[in-house]
Amino acid sequence: MNKLQGIAASNGVAISKAYTLETPDLSFETKKVEDTNREIQRLQDALNLSKSELEKIKEHARQSLGDEHAEIFSAHLLVLSDPELITPIEDKIKTDKVNAEAALDEVANMFINMFEQMDNAYMRERAADIKDVTERVMAHLLDVSFPDPALISEEVIIIAEDLTPSDTAQLNKQFVKGFTTNIGGRTSHSAIMARSLEIPAVVGTKTITKEVKDGDLVIVDGIDGEIILNPSEDVLKQYQEKQAEFAKQKEIWAKLKDEPTLSKDGQHVELGANIGTPNDVEGVINNGGEAVGLYRTEFLYMGNSDFPTEDEQFEAYKSVLEQMGDKPVVVRTLDIGGDKELSYLDLPEEMNPFLGVRAIRLCLERKDIFRTQLRALLRASTFGNLKIMFPMIATLNEFREAKALLLEEKDNLKREGIQVSDDIEVGIMVEIPSTAVIARQFAKEVDFFSIGTNDLIQYTMAADRMNESVSYLYQPYHPAILNLVNNVIEAAHAEGKWAGMCGEMAGDPIAIPILLGLGLDEFSMSATSILPARTQIKALSKEELASYKDKLLSMSTAEEVEAFIREKTNQ
Ligand code: PEP
Ligand code: MG
Repeated sequence: MNKLQGIAASNGVAISKAYTLETPDLSFETKKVEDTNREIQRLQDALNLSKSELEKIKEHARQSLGDEHAEIFSAHLLVLSDPELITPIEDKIKTDKVNAEAALDEVANMFINMFEQMDNAYMRERAADIKDVTERVMAHLLDVSFPDPALISEEVIIIAEDLTPSDTAQLNKQFVKGFTTNIGGRTSHSAIMARSLEIPAVVGTKTITKEVKDGDLVIVDGIDGEIILNPSEDVLKQYQEKQAEFAKQKEIWAKLKDEPTLSKDGQHVELGANIGTPNDVEGVINNGGEAVGLYRTEFLYMGNSDFPTEDEQFEAYKSVLEQMGDKPVVVRTLDIGGDKELSYLDLPEEMNPFLGVRAIRLCLERKDIFRTQLRALLRASTFGNLKIMFPMIATLNEFREAKALLLEEKDNLKREGIQVSDDIEVGIMVEIPSTAVIARQFAKEVDFFSIGTNDLIQYTMAADRMNESVSYLYQPYHPAILNLVNNVIEAAHAEGKWAGMCGEMAGDPIAIPILLGLGLDEFSMSATSILPARTQIKALSKEELASYKDKLLSMSTAEEVEAFIREKTNQ
């Protein structure tokens, strides 16, 4: 038995066989062949097997993620049927009398190099498609297995160096019981996706891929951030009990599903959920969410081969609004950059992408992309209770410019005879310290604030949210963070506006009493955290917590804050 400590990224306990997600060894020997027809047949067989796998993956992506995510696999299937690629491989086998592996490798590399050197980003992206697809064909020629998370058909735990958000989006919950990775932190986007999918996950174990092999029995303890490999009978039993206890706890939480969130002294706060796709709304409703406090629209743009059209976006936004009925839905405009890239958007390399052309900065530079999204949102606004917020606002001028574009598009739509709601609140995410510091000035112009602590902490503490080596500095309870949060809440209230929080801190059981006492109006978190948070808030007195405010804000360290709250709330 072997035990590893990582970062608890998604609640629950999973026990299953390991499935390592690694690119296989595709090295081969170049061989001379006599029977070229046989080689061509081997090539055809490998192509056919690859096509039928891709068809399955495409169908799976279509069902679980929608048409736009499936489109990338249509492009891959086209590559496999393209005579411009296949004929030269067959010719090479015939004329050079080499094995299919050598012919495939040479022709594929020629195309990959050619596409990679093109100026056009879209064409360069085709190089990645050819590489992806021909690696799959090569794996079949060599008879080595090519891991495909979307094709897993038995219960497993995924072991990987890291998972990209689009890898995570392809996981089928029915079979993937949990995952664990070498890198990442609690607020990396794969961790956030794991929580939306309600799959237990432990990230940042540093060495898991070295410690485990396919088929090993693995326990992912997403509650305490531990991984146990090949447990003894006794340990296995202990974790099965922990798993059962967690299921029982979930049943108790579920009883509060349709209740409002009231503190012990009868004060209401709103508990919303963070979502990435329209499919996530079901989880929000099942977990008793009173709102969608953050819809990360960038997932609509990721895992796609081109920008989603205005109509595609309209359908997604409308679906979320309709499913939520009259409950608020806060949609965040595109937040690309940092760790979120678009394969079809050619951005210059940056030394510090988290400090670069991200989010609203990109949208104000590429107004064409931004206007399309704003139009889609405005068109969807009549289907529910829409609120729009802009991410990564650092200056008032950015907010004014973004809002002016929104109003311009609203006028344009009205002139075109399209109905738009006149009650859309327009707010900002507070993720940058400059904005938190002058929240008073912002509060005069915005309708609401939503504090994005995932970024606010990384920018305030100068500690990369993705880097586990500086995770000790990533301190939500640091008095500097509490003072910034308090400043934002006070500023909002002074102008009669509301302040919410959609960073992961909003669902943290130590932070919840602090935030309740500071007067936060709305808490938006992973859907699975809502019922535990409601249970906790029911037992807390807001008035009592408010009386600790000055003491907490003048403390010197995060440890002091944590110890004080633990003592006062018996945690
Ligand atoms: C945040 O920064 O707190 C936030 C909610 O945005 P994201 O995690 O998507 O950067
Ligand atoms: Mg952010």
